[in-house]
Amino acid sequence: MRSGRRRERVLKVSRISGNAAQALEKFRELARRIRQYEEILGVVYWDMRTGAPRKGIGHRSEAVGALSDEVFRLMVSDEMGELLAALTEEETLRELGRIDRRLVEEMKKEYDRKKKIPPELNREYVVLTTKAEAVWEEAKARSDFASFAPYLEQIVDYTRRFVELWGVKGTPYDTLLDLYEPDLTVADCDRLFGELKARLVPLLEAIMDSPHQPDTSFLKGTFDAGAQKRFSLFILREMGFDFEGGRLDESVHPFAIGLGPGDVRITTRYLPDDVVSALFGTIHEGGHALYEQNFAPELAGTHLADGASMAVHESQSRLWENMVGRSLAFWRRYFPVLKNHFPGAFEGVTPEAFYRAINVVRPSLIRIEADELTYNLHIMIRYELEKKLFNEGLSVRDLPEAWNAAYRETLGVEPRSDGEGVLQDVHWSGGAFGYFPSYSLGNMYAAQIMRAARRHLPDLDGLIEAGKLLPLKEWLTEHVHRHGKLLRPAELIRAISGEPLGSACLCDYLETKYREIYRL
Ligand code: ZN
Repeated sequence: MRSGRRRERVLKVSRISGNAAQALEKFRELARRIRQYEEILGVVYWDMRTGAPRKGIGHRSEAVGALSDEVFRLMVSDEMGELLAALTEEETLRELGRIDRRLVEEMKKEYDRKKKIPPELNREYVVLTTKAEAVWEEAKARSDFASFAPYLEQIVDYTRRFVELWGVKGTPYDTLLDLYEPDLTVADCDRLFGELKARLVPLLEAIMDSPHQPDTSFLKGTFDAGAQKRFSLFILREMGFDFEGGRLDESVHPFAIGLGPGDVRITTRYLPDDVVSALFGTIHEGGHALYEQNFAPELAGTHLADGASMAVHESQSRLWENMVGRSLAFWRRYFPVLKNHFPGAFEGVTPEAFYRAINVVRPSLIRIEADELTYNLHIMIRYELEKKLFNEGLSVRDLPEAWNAAYRETLGVEPRSDGEGVLQDVHWSGGAFGYFPSYSLGNMYAAQIMRAARRHLPDLDGLIEAGKLLPLKEWLTEHVHRHGKLLRPAELIRAISGEPLGSACLCDYLETKYREIYRL
């Protein structure tokens, strides 16, 4: 009944006529063209990362630059400005259907954001970050922060100028957070992360003191890449990934990309000495892909065919990777299948022992290798440092020392070099400040969404153990996927769980899981 009413409003056509109707038609057309160009850029991006000949990359990058300029030009064009002005007149806006109204709202936000940056400044910034990424890669390999620092200093300066041009709401870092998680404030984030830390740090200490440490020896060995691929494809199929509308390829850094309805691609990387790395990577990207494959058809070809936010998108990958893929129910069903793919590799290992091994908790230096629990602490460290950079005047020069101190205090480990410390992530070289919190917020969304799913699918573990993953996928499609960007993140999580985003579900989930594994 509720969802029926909602659908009716989704489809409600805009009740406008005359000039406003014409403006709407032109606006839809312009937005559609921008979207089409972006989809083409996506195809080229995918190609460049999955096997385009190295020699051709330089030339191709120029075409990417030209088309990106065109997208930017259309986005900030006078035509776009006039159409948005006409459509955001109060009377007109009120009469727009839900999809049109939300699309106007999103495009207006993007238009304002882009329009406020002088084109010259933007061009300089693009050149700077392109160079910086190459410099960062070198610097990381040589553990040489000093060579990267001047670039990072400039990127931080540009970002500070952008924040001023966009307009500071609250603190400068609030403005940056809003780029990735609309409406989320530093105060919200401080509270959520504070609560998380207060419960996870004691849990981590108890885990470290537990005499019941999992045996992980059988996770390392030699695992045929072909068999890994077959098993990964099998699991994707079980999750309900649509191979008619998607594909799985290989790349150094795994990613998922939606190129439009009927074309959603993911990549993974097979490590010959690690049986689970590619698998969990595939499940993670598969979770992103299920989101992209199941937007409502009415949203196709619009900018609303996208995740509600970065963190909500991340919730879908993490829900599948961790809450399903690292669950005991999952491995009770799929461990025998895994064993069949690698004859002789897991003699005498039970599903329970395998489950404990893949959930081992160890404070470590590298974020992307971290377990489900300490991962959040890696994120909080970055969040605090970014906040200090933009709100408290921390200088780039002092960043390595601040980084090392934070790792010492929070995780009890200290990098031996900046390569495994402050230089480990690509994000800052591209100016992506405010992005990191999305990962932990994604875990919080995932736990809250999963709790709601369990209310509707009371025997979810039983279903998973029986190899029935589709009821969960269908529930997620109904409550998360199909909405795309039509609902704001806060509206979405309230509609699903009846509450705003909180940290409690994630803490409860982690405590329950690890108390059992470590017998606390
Ligand atoms: Zn992800």
